[in-house]
Amino acid sequence: MFINGEWVDARSGATFAVINPANGEHLGDVPDGAREDAELAITAADAAFHDWSMTTAYERADVLMGAWTLMRERADALAHVMTAEQGKPLRASAAEVAYGADFIRWFAEEARRLTGEWLPSARSNQRFLSVQAPVGVVAAITPWNYPMSMLTRKMAPALAAGCTVVLKPAEATPLNARAIFEVFHDAGVPPGVINMITTSQPAPIGDVLTTDPRVAKLTFTGSTAVGRVLASAAGGSLKRISVELGGHAPFIVMPDADPVHAAKGAAALKFLNAGQACISPNRIYVHQDHVEQFTATMVERVERVKTGNGSHEGIGCGPLVNDAAVAKVEAQVDDAVAKGASALVGGSRLTDGELAAGHFFAPTVLSGVTTDMAIYREETFGPVAPIIAYDDPDTVVDLANDTNYGLAAYVYTNDLSTALRTVEALRFGIIGVNDVNPTSASVPFGGMNDSGLGREGAREGLLEYLETKTAGIAI
Ligand code: NAP
Repeated sequence: MFINGEWVDARSGATFAVINPANGEHLGDVPDGAREDAELAITAADAAFHDWSMTTAYERADVLMGAWTLMRERADALAHVMTAEQGKPLRASAAEVAYGADFIRWFAEEARRLTGEWLPSARSNQRFLSVQAPVGVVAAITPWNYPMSMLTRKMAPALAAGCTVVLKPAEATPLNARAIFEVFHDAGVPPGVINMITTSQPAPIGDVLTTDPRVAKLTFTGSTAVGRVLASAAGGSLKRISVELGGHAPFIVMPDADPVHAAKGAAALKFLNAGQACISPNRIYVHQDHVEQFTATMVERVERVKTGNGSHEGIGCGPLVNDAAVAKVEAQVDDAVAKGASALVGGSRLTDGELAAGHFFAPTVLSGVTTDMAIYREETFGPVAPIIAYDDPDTVVDLANDTNYGLAAYVYTNDLSTALRTVEALRFGIIGVNDVNPTSASVPFGGMNDSGLGREGAREGLLEYLETKTAGIAI
């Protein structure tokens, strides 16, 4: 754990093991923090806040630029840490390191663009000034699926704003978090400004972070169920809250779209990170005129995906995070098949040879998916592409909107009017139009309804860490 600029053990001395999900290898042990450790981390962040908040934007931007440079210099080593601990193929890890680093650069640049306003008054002897100030100590809780970029997407704007941070990373990926903390520490972030508690018991740490009055803001990325609990607890002490939660993304192939192009896009997107992405398509609506060609292309692409240890050459799909994740995917596929869907490729766990030591599920294409199946409603978080044939393009957006989630959605069409009308009608925070990567540090990321509150990235991502102060000045 990292408290007040030092790597420390848990006060209790307890540790927990870190395991490679591809082969069960024991990667090491990390401190198993408890309430008292979280309280010490908050004390350090609280004590460091005054001085850090008084640094100039130029100083904070320089430190962040230094971190960006270090992250790029260490890109190869960071990608190896990620693949070993999280499982995604090395190429995907390298892409995440670059994506994660880009948040640091973006917010280093944004730090110096923090300005105020000079506002009009009805009184001739009065002037108004409006400025933005850092909120204070930020508690950040992050998931394992994007174990570096989810940290930089929170820590970089918090630091740019002048806040201090206490982070609790996911139990499955503390070594990724350690590597990111080394980057910030080596770049010159002062003691106490960033602190990290690793733990195998998240609930007591969550309780401290959401109830301690010294914490001003909670930023969380993870499941809707946990986000709801933490946001409610933080609301009790009126903390600022941003929560990035689950999704159930629709992927619509309109009648005028090229089904082969759309299928290639869907295949590339769906099996990224073995389907363990909040923006992964979970309902693929294909117009009935295209369903045969779309499905054939998808199956042909998926049959070529090699599953295995992400550190091996040519692997396209790595392991799932743990056995519970495999069991959840398996239950959804079994339920769909029992209700009439067909698994055209994949459809089961992979346990042959060296795969037996990891948590693997075969990349799967399900056809004939219908609304009564669990996969139609529940987030899968695994490598399963459910295809739904539809016949009326006028109602497909209603089908797509029929979910409590509202994170990402995709539409394939060659008609500009259809594209724009669909973007306007979809109730989702992020929409890809003929595009399977509608994300960047420069654009807002976040969802509606059960997918969360607030946005990360872009200028909006910085505003989440700022308060507005108004000064009325009599002259
Ligand atoms: P999770 O189970 O909600 O865990 C997320 C984080 O919360 C982990 O650090 C976890 O610790 C911690 N946590 C769990 N229970 C807690 C409690 N009672 N108090 C405090 N912390 C607690 O989610 P996950 O399985 O790691 O991540 C997958 C989910 O994240 C999916 O639903 C996915 O869609 C969502 N996600 C959303 C976005 C987005 O930007 N919208 C991005 C990525 C992922 P442990 O690791 O110890 O359990």
